[in-house]
Amino acid sequence: MNVLLTFDIEVWCNSWATLEQDFPTSFERYVFGRSEAGDFALPKTLDILDRHGLKGVFFVEPLFAARFGLESLATIVGLIQQAGQEVQLHLHPEWTDEARMPLLPNVTGKTAAPFVLQPRRADRTRGSWAKNAERGRSDAALSLPFRQLRLQ
Ligand SMILES: [Zn+2]
Repeated sequence: MNVLLTFDIEVWCNSWATLEQDFPTSFERYVFGRSEAGDFALPKTLDILDRHGLKGVFFVEPLFAARFGLESLATIVGLIQQAGQEVQLHLHPEWTDEARMPLLPNVTGKTAAPFVLQPRRADRTRGSWAKNAERGRSDAALSLPFRQLRLQ
């Protein structure tokens, strides 16, 4: 049996109306899982995978960086890469109209539904999975159930 460990890494704020105010604490919460009981989220997950000799694929949502800059995105990607894990693309187009510079023409509101499934399905069948022959074979063998699982 083959098991794929995948993780969606994304930052959500409490409200689109208060992004500037909420982003710093939301970033800390979603990425570092800071709490009174300790830090969890991404670093804890990476540590657990490392302790058990496991590999995972981390689907990182990058569009928030179009609003808040690349530094936070680089922090996320750096943590994952330093841990020897794989980074792949995960898009939440709800961020598109929040970008400081327009990402798409004629986007003036939240348009999630048409975009959410298409990029995820496409991205999970390309990239380094297809470039690596061994992974390509396992990806091909698992591609249908994997896609179905991801789209639910
Ligand atoms: Zn997501």
